[in-house]
Amino acid sequence: MGTTQARVLMLGLDAAGKTTILYKYKLSEQVTTVPTIGFNVETVSPVKNVSFTVWDIGGQATIRQLWRYYYQGTDGLIFIVDSTDRERFASAKEELLSILDDQDMHSVPVVVFANKQDLPGAEEPSKLATELGLDSLRGHDWYIQGTSANSGQGLYEGMEQLVRLIKENRKHN
Ligand code: GDP
Ligand code: MG
Repeated sequence: MGTTQARVLMLGLDAAGKTTILYKYKLSEQVTTVPTIGFNVETVSPVKNVSFTVWDIGGQATIRQLWRYYYQGTDGLIFIVDSTDRERFASAKEELLSILDDQDMHSVPVVVFANKQDLPGAEEPSKLATELGLDSLRGHDWYIQGTSANSGQGLYEGMEQLVRLIKENRKHN
């Protein structure tokens, strides 16, 4: 990211692989977990000027009002999906669209991590993009990256893509 600061939100359903990815990025020493009413928020102090905030989505609608506080000032979203969890693709899609709809997420670019690509039966990224409705997404630049938090495959590339989208977004806004 050079000298520019960026705030990245990392969201996904529980067990998608968020915490494992934080560890793979070797951000674990900086992780602070703050239990808020109904959800744990993990924040990572800036590494190379990029700060991360992570929590599990899904669950009670009443808690969602609290999320807005964390949306403010977000430059980029990493949305993590378990590519083997087909039963929850629809719910992942619903959550993603509702997050991107929030006024505080206006024009924020998103990189979807199609995670757990190392597992047999993982949906391929291009098909997952269709399942999540990314093809018809308006108002947000997006990219989908196949990843494995276990092997580290795709994690660096995915972050590179997000940084690229954030920079482009800044030029145009
Ligand atoms: P979170 O709830 O999104 O933070 O998910 P976790 O990081 O806790 O991961 C949930 C489970 O999935 C753990 O047992 C991880 O070891 C496993 N997991 C996460 N990413 C991968 C992956 O890419 N491949 C495989 N095979 N397992 C993964
Ligand atoms: Mg976690």
